[in-house]
Amino acid sequence: MELLTDIPVKRVYRSRVMEVDFNNLEFGKYVSDHMLVCDFKAGEWQLPVIVPYANLSMSPASLALHYGQTVFEGMKAFRMHDGHINIFRLEKHYERFARSLERMCMAVPPQEMFTEGLLKLVSTDKSWVPQQAGCSLYLRPFVFASEARFGVKISDEYRFIIITGPVPELYAKPIRVKVETNYVRAAKGGTGFAKCGGNYGGAYYPTQLARKQGYDQVLWTDAKENKFIEESGMMNVMFVLNNKLVTPPLSDSILDGITRDSLLTLAAGLGYETEERPVSIAELENAFRNNTIREAFGAGTAAVVAPIDTICIGDTDYMLPAYGPQSLLNRVKDGLQKIRLGLSEDIYGWNRVI
Ligand SMILES: *Cc1c(COP(=O)(O)O)cnc(C)c1O
Repeated sequence: MELLTDIPVKRVYRSRVMEVDFNNLEFGKYVSDHMLVCDFKAGEWQLPVIVPYANLSMSPASLALHYGQTVFEGMKAFRMHDGHINIFRLEKHYERFARSLERMCMAVPPQEMFTEGLLKLVSTDKSWVPQQAGCSLYLRPFVFASEARFGVKISDEYRFIIITGPVPELYAKPIRVKVETNYVRAAKGGTGFAKCGGNYGGAYYPTQLARKQGYDQVLWTDAKENKFIEESGMMNVMFVLNNKLVTPPLSDSILDGITRDSLLTLAAGLGYETEERPVSIAELENAFRNNTIREAFGAGTAAVVAPIDTICIGDTDYMLPAYGPQSLLNRVKDGLQKIRLGLSEDIYGWNRVI
């Protein structure tokens, strides 16, 4: 492959960045001026290009539309206090992207293309990286099966695209979650660990039912017995039980969240005990009865930390106390933010400064 630092850029004639109300961002509303596109054809990746963001032209027979070979990543770039921009945990996102793509029998873009493509795309659209506290540039790399053929088959052609857009901080307000024991998101041996589109499609219906009952999200349980907590389906879940940070262990039905990993690392660094172990519904009920549960929160790139104030188990709404600045969730969230903004030392090597 040619030198990727030479990825050609076809610039927009006129930027749309002036149309963005950076003080009132909404998640997913704005897309930056440019996107990276690269096709996989005849057994190899072609040269990537950065072009103005635009609609795609594709065949209605594109395999992704019928049989679901689609995989994405969700990551962020931050404006640091000194004005530099950094991309958070680039390598770890690439590794997960590759694992997801392999599970779906899809072509994996080479690591240099992923890395150089992101660096160059973010530099091209650097005026889109928000300055506002808590805001960031969301990065969405994805691959889909682009071969036009309507028989069921593994696609021989793929398209790798990266789009980006400025986003606010999500879930500042605590959320209400419902423990789901009828529907499941992922089963042992399935695709739960992969960031593939179908996992989301299948989760909508039960999530919609929970919304109608007044909850924001479901907490999925294991597919075999519906006894153990898994995750929320766009976030991993963490609890403070007996003053320890506890989260279910990774498995093929739980997504390996990068926020989860970062928060476990930061909490340990702050001196908290951390445990990755199964958490049963019964344990949560007991912990509410005995007052040994102090915190519950979702962890994911979009929200970073989503504090939970209510957990519905069966017919009972269990409440959690309000979270002050000394709560674990606020301390790890602040610790993460400080590293990302360059306000504290990046001791874990998470920032890729552009
Ligand atoms: C993306 C995602 C998460 C969170 O992962 P992060 O890397 O922290 O953003 C959790 N669960 C599911 C199902 C996801 O798709």
